[in-house]
Amino acid sequence: MESDRAADLKGKAPHTVAQSTSAEPQENADWVSRYADDVIAESERRAPGKPVVVASGLSPSGPIHLGNLREVMTPHLVADEIRRRGYTVRHLISWDDYDRYRKVPNGVPGTDASWAEHIGKPLTAVPAPAGSAYPNWAEHFKAAMVEALGEMGVEFDGISQTAQYTSGTYREQILHAMKHRGDIDAILDQYRTKKDPAAKAPGKKPQQQKQKPVDEAELEAAEGSGAADEDDGSGGAGGYYPYKPFCGECGKDLTTVTSYDDETTELSYTCTLDGFTETVLLSEFNRGKLVWKVDWPMRWAYEGVIFEPSGVDHSSPGSSFQVGGQIVDQVFGGKQPIGPMYAFVGISGMAKMSSSKGGVPTPGDALQIMEPQILRWLYARRRPNQSFKIAFDQEIQRLYDEWDKLSAKVADGSALPADSAAYSRAVGTAAGELPRTPRPLPYRTLASVADVTAGDAEQTLRILSELDPENPVTDLATVRPRLDRAEAWINKYVPAESRTIVRTEPDTAALAALDEASRASIRLLLDGLDDHWSLDGLTHLVYGVPKVQAGFPADATPKELPAEIKGAQRAFFALLYDLLVGRDTGPRLPTLLLAVGADRVRKLLGA
Ligand SMILES: [Zn+2]
Repeated sequence: MESDRAADLKGKAPHTVAQSTSAEPQENADWVSRYADDVIAESERRAPGKPVVVASGLSPSGPIHLGNLREVMTPHLVADEIRRRGYTVRHLISWDDYDRYRKVPNGVPGTDASWAEHIGKPLTAVPAPAGSAYPNWAEHFKAAMVEALGEMGVEFDGISQTAQYTSGTYREQILHAMKHRGDIDAILDQYRTKKDPAAKAPGKKPQQQKQKPVDEAELEAAEGSGAADEDDGSGGAGGYYPYKPFCGECGKDLTTVTSYDDETTELSYTCTLDGFTETVLLSEFNRGKLVWKVDWPMRWAYEGVIFEPSGVDHSSPGSSFQVGGQIVDQVFGGKQPIGPMYAFVGISGMAKMSSSKGGVPTPGDALQIMEPQILRWLYARRRPNQSFKIAFDQEIQRLYDEWDKLSAKVADGSALPADSAAYSRAVGTAAGELPRTPRPLPYRTLASVADVTAGDAEQTLRILSELDPENPVTDLATVRPRLDRAEAWINKYVPAESRTIVRTEPDTAALAALDEASRASIRLLLDGLDDHWSLDGLTHLVYGVPKVQAGFPADATPKELPAEIKGAQRAFFALLYDLLVGRDTGPRLPTLLLAVGADRVRKLLGA
């Protein structure tokens, strides 16, 4: 569970089926298969013949960021495996949009400090950012997530908790919880006295705290979760009540229940903000909710949830998952789901961007620079308890290389079983394959081309058609959407100082100052250009020039060459970079030469 859920998930989960079995590696089974085994078995025990229910919870309190995608992907992958085995599965995404608005996140376009006046109202009662197409705050941020999940092939049933509560769906459960408030209070009280003050970090989201991919203040602001610890309903002079009305006057949750009559369901409350007092019949009243620690287990029972993960943090007893396990069992007569704790997902390469963008990336941001398959793969190949980072920096090129290598292995049947499983979970779902790039050229090549051409389509097509003259790219559509992702990455996440700017005019001073050996090396290169004008050919050429100069054949292997040849190659490459782009490094030279074009290469190299 994200947000509130994660905020007070400070306790180690009790032993669950999943935790006791999944730690043992089984041959030929990846983590998804093992959870699927457990979940199917547990579902058969609890609800034979019924659809298997897995759940995620998201709080649209601001931009729903990339770190929280694990909340959805973990059950999604398990649900998808179960579907592939022929079972019917419901993946519920609970939109916790009846949660209180806690703070105004920084850097959200169309908002300003005046939104603070809505703090305490349900997220669906807060106005959307200015210019939004959506009716309220929650819907605005939900929409971006729904779109990203659609692109990733995630099939789910979204449940608005606002809709559920305000329509009275949970009436019976609320009345039941009120009736058993003494039992609930007693369960919560076991933890109140045991609380470790050091582990109690109000308003922090454990999953986002383990590492700091961006400035921490930034992160908290962006996620809008700077909440006080979840109010468990305790405190009022009138006793313990697990239910909180939103005030009939100001709409906020700063209310205290002052009395409740089990027979008549007459409930009185006072607003601590404006003093508004009201007596309502809880059997008819729909403007309030169960406190979080009771709300969550109530819904496990109501929906029959078999599997629901939550953000990792294992420091103290009293987490809502642990307490919920007791409440669902002793109060609602249900059972706790199998609930693995998932580890932190970090972001690399966002530190620079975050200050200017005013936030942390969302799944939609990731999908602008990588295809959905790659993003799915990141989650599929790591067990939930393994943390990893999602690359917005140069690392994304290596990630894509790795993915292409795996694709090749899968194609020729040499991939290991677990790697193959992760691959098949990445490229599609039980419903079918996700659309893929027909001709997946190396991402780093596409990025270099995008870098040099600044997105000029005609120039891009010219360069890509020359990469492999035997089998030329003749239509950019065949290299999309991967090309678009690489272009987006170059434009948004490669800092200006790392961008490649090809010289428009030759550096005549540098050319005039070249020594004889350098001149000779450039001459060798220029003489070979026409015969080597392809990615492979130019690769051969640029590595071969220093060999020939040193008196060896161009195709001499490293074993046949002295160690110094490496130094000569490095010096040659640096010379070319300097003359072409005015730096000592850049995109791989063969790609750069193709991108610059033969005529311009000749001009810049003084021919
Ligand atoms: Zn009020």
